[in-house]
Amino acid sequence: YLTQKIDEPKVDNLVKPPADPSNYDRANATLLVLARNRELNKVIVTIQQIEDKFNNKYHYPYTFLNDAEFSQKFINGIKALLPGRELYFEAIDPKIWKKPSTIDKEKEREGIAYLKEEKIGYSEMESYHNMCRFYSGNFYKHPRLAKFKWYWRFEPGTNYFCKIDYDLFKFMEMNNKTYGFTISLYDAQQSIKTLWPTTLEFLSQNPQYLHPNGAFNWLTEDFMNKKKTTETGGYSTCHFWSNFEIGNMDFFRSEPYDNWFQYLDSKGGFYYERWGDAPVHSVGLGLFEDKSKIHWFRDIGYEHYPYYNCPNSDKCNTREPGPKSGKLGGPVCEVGKFSFPHLYDQNCVSNW
Ligand code: GDP
Ligand code: MN
Repeated sequence: YLTQKIDEPKVDNLVKPPADPSNYDRANATLLVLARNRELNKVIVTIQQIEDKFNNKYHYPYTFLNDAEFSQKFINGIKALLPGRELYFEAIDPKIWKKPSTIDKEKEREGIAYLKEEKIGYSEMESYHNMCRFYSGNFYKHPRLAKFKWYWRFEPGTNYFCKIDYDLFKFMEMNNKTYGFTISLYDAQQSIKTLWPTTLEFLSQNPQYLHPNGAFNWLTEDFMNKKKTTETGGYSTCHFWSNFEIGNMDFFRSEPYDNWFQYLDSKGGFYYERWGDAPVHSVGLGLFEDKSKIHWFRDIGYEHYPYYNCPNSDKCNTREPGPKSGKLGGPVCEVGKFSFPHLYDQNCVSNW
């Protein structure tokens, strides 16, 4: 239980909302969402909250990505919601999105059979594997994103509970941050069995890429001895939940991260296992970036079902209705309540 208010980061250079958002010197940033045409309504529900809590004061552009072409209905729906805004609707090159022909079908079948047995979600859904691979190593190379440095990833159907009274992108920029998260937790060990061993192989060939101030304890902590990380070869599975993230794409475009991604990709684990973009981003950040450049946005009230980050702040309202926003009587984000989902308060965030 926390009595201390968590309204804003404790720095003195917060950029407050401009008088006129249409005439504002924005950071080089975009809101970013990957979505399918049928997710239009969920995208709208989340954008309404992002606008209400933050972006109607700053008017940052939105980039919508899809492996298919966006339908006219999707485009019209968003344009009606955000008239006059800078909006980009982009398809992803199938050569980038689709499973590479080098993936061994038999090995893939075996991998999926194991994942199914272990009840790992989305095992058999090829599009999910494509999505994880795309967000791990390819989104920041999309031609439309080339001109942007910062992105705020959001997902259809996620909820934002609290007013944000400062420019998050400028906060990142002015305080020399690379990456911001709201939720950090453990992952399913079975989905990433060879991610860490493969990474150690890469590191033994490229030791110069390791950042001396990486988040090594976080990457290797031992579940408080409760749950040995035997399946992962030593990776704690601690990861930033990447369905919300604010990041500097120049980090992902940099040699250490991108070469490492190419190496991972060449080993096929996005298909033979179910490597998620969340552990991939997190291991990359933990190894190749200064830990002090990773920021926990404790002040951002956020929910992606079933987990949430709920600060103790009177800038937060009680939960808003949204699709898939949890069970009746589920978590609420109300003043004076500092809530964590189960697992969440154990260890993975204690480093931040
Ligand atoms: P989960 O959060 O791990 O359960 O995965 P989601 O189903 O929420 O997918 C993560 C993000 O990728 C969401 O923004 C989805 O809208 C998007 N996404 C997932 N699969 C696809 C796909 O096949 N095509 C497109 N266009 N978007 C996808
Ligand atoms: Mn999701």
